[in-house]
Amino acid sequence: MNTSAALDVDLALVGGGGAASLVLAALDRHGVRDLRVAVVDPVHRRGQDRTWAFWDRPGSDLDPLLAASWDQVEVATPDGRRVLDLAPLRYAMLRSGPVYARAAEAERRLGVRRIVAPVDALYDDGGHVTVRVGGGSAVRASWVLDSRPRPPRRPGRTNWLQHFRGWWLESAVPVFDPARAVLMDFRTPQPARGVSFGYVLPVSDRYALVEYTEFGPDLLTDAGYDAALAGYRDLLGLDPTRLTVREVENGVIPMTDGPFEARPSPRVVRLGTAGGATRPSTGFTFSAMHRQAEQVARALAAGRPPMPAPAYPRRHRWMDAVALRALDAGGVGGPDFFGRLFDRNPAERVLRFLDGATTPAEEVALMGTTRLRPMVAATAGDAAARLRDRLDPTRRAATWTVPRPVVGDRADADG
Ligand SMILES: Cc1cc2nc3c(=O)[nH]c(=O)nc-3n(C[C@H](O)[C@H](O)[C@H](O)COP(=O)(O)OP(=O)(O)OC[C@H]3O[C@@H](n4cnc5c(N)ncnc54)[C@H](O)[C@@H]3O)c2cc1C
Repeated sequence: MNTSAALDVDLALVGGGGAASLVLAALDRHGVRDLRVAVVDPVHRRGQDRTWAFWDRPGSDLDPLLAASWDQVEVATPDGRRVLDLAPLRYAMLRSGPVYARAAEAERRLGVRRIVAPVDALYDDGGHVTVRVGGGSAVRASWVLDSRPRPPRRPGRTNWLQHFRGWWLESAVPVFDPARAVLMDFRTPQPARGVSFGYVLPVSDRYALVEYTEFGPDLLTDAGYDAALAGYRDLLGLDPTRLTVREVENGVIPMTDGPFEARPSPRVVRLGTAGGATRPSTGFTFSAMHRQAEQVARALAAGRPPMPAPAYPRRHRWMDAVALRALDAGGVGGPDFFGRLFDRNPAERVLRFLDGATTPAEEVALMGTTRLRPMVAATAGDAAARLRDRLDPTRRAATWTVPRPVVGDRADADG
């Protein structure tokens, strides 16, 4: 292979979205200056294309970038509404614009070379990785951090999607409570198979992101998302005639126990959703990406290979597989499952659990608060399915891909 024209770098970021932006910012924060870095992505991400919500401890590098944060959140089910104090954590919202701008600033300081093109393939000979673009060798890198979207190595036993539509709503009058976000509101009509909920992320008393989300196997239609979101708006008691939709946000995130390969070859490390940073039972991804970006930067700053710890411990991935199976079988209802978790445990413990940061003893306590019979059935079902797969590896479908979001062109809030 002719690699003479290739750009020689120490690190190539293949994919320059959320995960890569956080890595660039972390490298800059760690004062890394002597590393030759390239970013290859067909899109140079700028401005608002998504909103990240996550929880963390106040006082991180993200503080100056946040659009809002809340010490209290609400979780609602048909049984009632709970106001949860998150201390010492907080729930926070980050718009993509400031994250991409921070990454651009880091890129300038690090002297990053950017190639705006899709990568076709990576060839790892164990010493270097050749990054192929448009049929030619564009970059030769000592290490590649690859965050191009991709499906799991093989489909999971449960393959669900978190799919959603959100409206950034501006109100003519004060209607939102900026002191409190709605984390999950399960009073929405529940789908025949899956879980639905709404949420509200207010940045002021007149401006908020209001979103309708489903966990389940299939997407809705464009009209279906609009109807569901309008229904949630009405459930909140918001008057559509006094609201303007300023922006629309759509997304689809995998929720699967299929394995995402974090280290496909010796010098390629996958990050972001492609590297398993998406928590299968919730779709939350941001905190794991942020954690791994810090680990990668710390390693590179110390002259070590950029290999982060797995996004979640193995036992958490197993617990997620069981939870997904229980939800998919219908033995556990989403509102009941999440309602009981938040009713019977300190909110801070539930959130740490969802980040994969609890101890086994805490996990036993948490599991003890879910409904025993369907969870035992799902655990037995998971064990039996693993055994069947081992005996007949061809049993499961060969591939499973995450569909693109359904994107409409609505410009008003009327449903
Ligand atoms: C609308 C939306 C809202 C979300 N909100 C939340 C949230 O609130 N909280 C949370 O925890 N998670 C959230 N997520 C999930 C997750 O945090 C995001 O998807 C996050 O952006 C994932 O980062 P990533 O780097 O893995 O992928 P992306 O940010 O999607 O980046 C992948 C990059 O790869 C590039 N690429 C594609 N093909 C190629 C190629 N051939 N060669 C080179 N580059 C390529 C793309 O152009 C893109 O820039 C959300 C996701 C979406 C879509």
